[in-house]
Amino acid sequence: MNQLNALSNCVEYYGPRHNEVYIHSEVMRARPEINCVIHTHPEHAIAFSSLGKPLSAMSNDGTMFSDGVPIFAETTDLITDQPRGKAVAKTLGDRRALILRNHGIVTAGTTIDEAVFVAIKLERACRIQMLAGAAGGPKLFVKDEELAAKRSRTNRGDSQGNAFSYLVRRWHLRCGCEVPKEYRAEIGNFDRTGYKGS
Ligand SMILES: [Zn+2]
Repeated sequence: MNQLNALSNCVEYYGPRHNEVYIHSEVMRARPEINCVIHTHPEHAIAFSSLGKPLSAMSNDGTMFSDGVPIFAETTDLITDQPRGKAVAKTLGDRRALILRNHGIVTAGTTIDEAVFVAIKLERACRIQMLAGAAGGPKLFVKDEELAAKRSRTNRGDSQGNAFSYLVRRWHLRCGCEVPKEYRAEIGNFDRTGYKGS
């Protein structure tokens, strides 16, 4: 991981700078509240983006995208210069997720937890919608009142933090590494600030 300044030049160097760095730098320049920008090439989101269809809230994973996901369609090529980075940031606007047509996704969060959570949800929503589409297309959809309730739950910061901790634990267990104390499955580590159950 390299540390870059506002001009996308390295100030702490650990390896080659990624050639799509302008996605990150320009989104962060346009959105002062954003602390993490993710860009990746997930296979289901890329396949879905080539269909030219809107993302549906037919799955719980699609819930947070029910007001639509901006599509960057200026190019399917990599974003390797500042003008294109600025164009991506403009298309993202004030949203948390964007699809680069036939290329990948961009997510933005005030925390790493949030940006990771949104990226995983987006990839899963694309995969589930394509699965349903391959089986003849979804016939049953979510009621509006249900959708509103699910949206408020999905978008909670505590849900995102707890989900991120789970991913950190899974990663460490897979590689046989010790799970850092703050991510262990201990009651004190669970954020229950948004929890409404008894
Ligand atoms: Zn890319």
